[in-house]
Amino acid sequence: MQFPVIDTDVLVIGAGGAGLRAAIEASAQGAKVAVITKSLLGKAHTVMAEGGMAAAMGNVDDRDNWRVHFADTMRGGQYLNNWRMAELHAREAPERVRELEAWGAVFDRTKDGRILQRNFGGHRYPRLAHVGDRTGLEMIRTLQDHGVHRGLDVHMEHTVVTLLTDSGRAAGAVAYDRERGRFKVFRAKATVMATGGLGRAFRITSNSWEYTGDGYALAYDIGAALQDLEFIQFHPTGMIWPPSVKGILVTEGVRGEGGILLNKDGHRFMFDDIPENYRTQTADNEEEGWRYTQGDKNARRPPELLTRDHVARCINREVKAGRGSPHGGVFLDIAWIKKRLPNGAEHIRRKLPSMYHQFKQLANLDITETPMEVGPTTHYTMGGIRVDGDTQMSTVPGLFAAGEAAAGLHGANRLGGNSLSDLIVFGKRAGEYAAAFASQHGAPSLDERQVDEAAARALAPFDRGSGGENPYAVQHDLQDFMQDLVGIVRRESEMRDAQERLRALRARAANAGTVGNREYNNGWHTAIDLHNLLTVSEAIAMAAIERKESRGAHFREDYPEKSAEFASFNFVIEKDASGEMTLTRVPIPAMPAELAAVIEENK
Ligand SMILES: Cc1cc2nc3c(=O)[nH]c(=O)nc-3n(C[C@H](O)[C@H](O)[C@H](O)COP(=O)(O)OP(=O)(O)OC[C@H]3O[C@@H](n4cnc5c(N)ncnc54)[C@H](O)[C@@H]3O)c2cc1C
Repeated sequence: MQFPVIDTDVLVIGAGGAGLRAAIEASAQGAKVAVITKSLLGKAHTVMAEGGMAAAMGNVDDRDNWRVHFADTMRGGQYLNNWRMAELHAREAPERVRELEAWGAVFDRTKDGRILQRNFGGHRYPRLAHVGDRTGLEMIRTLQDHGVHRGLDVHMEHTVVTLLTDSGRAAGAVAYDRERGRFKVFRAKATVMATGGLGRAFRITSNSWEYTGDGYALAYDIGAALQDLEFIQFHPTGMIWPPSVKGILVTEGVRGEGGILLNKDGHRFMFDDIPENYRTQTADNEEEGWRYTQGDKNARRPPELLTRDHVARCINREVKAGRGSPHGGVFLDIAWIKKRLPNGAEHIRRKLPSMYHQFKQLANLDITETPMEVGPTTHYTMGGIRVDGDTQMSTVPGLFAAGEAAAGLHGANRLGGNSLSDLIVFGKRAGEYAAAFASQHGAPSLDERQVDEAAARALAPFDRGSGGENPYAVQHDLQDFMQDLVGIVRRESEMRDAQERLRALRARAANAGTVGNREYNNGWHTAIDLHNLLTVSEAIAMAAIERKESRGAHFREDYPEKSAEFASFNFVIEKDASGEMTLTRVPIPAMPAELAAVIEENK
């Protein structure tokens, strides 16, 4: 073997919330654990999470419990969720949050000292445990401290380029070190994909540079099934001005604290369109909506806290109808609460410190005085690697997935706050079952040919040098048409056009070239990422064309209604024997009567 080999029981790819929680658990089960992350430890995308993690602890409203959380998650996901995952998530999240607290996370508190919980879209009761609007930072800090003390072997600033297999079983990975550009081989008895999402396939996104869809493509390449990739969440409130910050997230916490959405005429348009399945739970006047945000248990939530898919489409409608803000969005006003709260400005700065600084520094705007301009931004991938609900094992033996890399929990649309809790619930499970798999299976054999091919593929852009395609130009073109043709509002003709363009881009990407040396060479990294971006984009377009209805985050202008025909299966994408991408419909198993009753009782 021409490269150094690191032997481990469990290899965790990704050091966000899911990866760190999986690594901690695998280590707690006695496994030797190696963690790989593209960025520095503590800097994974999870650090950006703002509003909080959803867990039915009932600290603020004692009517909350796992049954309501389960029903909310299923309704939000339009019943395409893996119901077993939704059940486990709702049942186990409170324990996982309390565990974080025991490990040192300092949550905001209720007056009597319990973990404070805030309102968020689609959650019936205040449910999000939070630390101001910096919850992800606290989660990562806590998990990182805990993990470091468990002695995890962390490989920072390393990027995995290929997963290895041994007779159909996952066998580890080949990665390069970003600083020096040298390869390392990881041989592992079990591998956990905790690689996050793919927002960088689109032009406007809240996602960090790490989100190039690597985990999905790496898993797909070795035969794992992907599921429901058509469901991409466009968060309704991203910054839209100035252009350099377009896409940066404005947390739903702003609306949870009483922020309202207005069009250019000052009209609160969210009251105009309340979906039938949320009508009984939604306030029908402004007074009631305000009371809800202030904790009145007899009030229903304001329409700004409807699910993200719906709010994003309402904003889109206002803009299209010429009622948008000057830079093509709408207004999000939190300053108005000063009329209701004597210490309103201070309250905003205390509850939303990051938002206050974000707008002050990036847009020279004081949110305690002036409404923000916001519009939809590509935010979250509901689909991903298909996993077993209990164990998180993918369709490839020994390959597990958790967090945003995995599919199932969120169905057609994720509720805010359900990701951070997903990370700790299913990160733990993935770590536990990966450690068990590792203890039951010997070390796999390394196939030198797979390693050499991976290294040769990764280095090919240097051979093409300046004569090759500019990788940034390919990435830019991809993001441009994915946004315009497979974005928030979709049409078959446009998506077919996107497929044509994807084919042409494949050819250009195969010819991408780079110059310079291997140390911190961003052009080279971009050239390597192209394969992943193109693979996931192809999968998104394929599934989005096939889903001939509108459901959750997937909106088809040519099929604007929900269709019963599409209500009972997931779309599964795999590589066929000839290497082509194929899509099949896999029926969702019938829900046990007990869970069906929970949904009924919460209707
Ligand atoms: C601005 C913002 C605010 C948010 N706020 C909330 C919130 O309040 N509540 C909530 O529930 N959700 C929120 N979300 C969503 C949530 O933060 C993410 O879904 C979640 O953090 C994903 O965690 P993860 O562990 O799956 O992946 P990540 O935290 O993204 O970690 C992925 C890891 O994989 C690594 N990786 C990827 N590819 C490779 C590769 N090829 N080789 C090696 N390593 C690789 C990365 O380097 C990284 O370490 C927010 C998202 C954003 C963008």
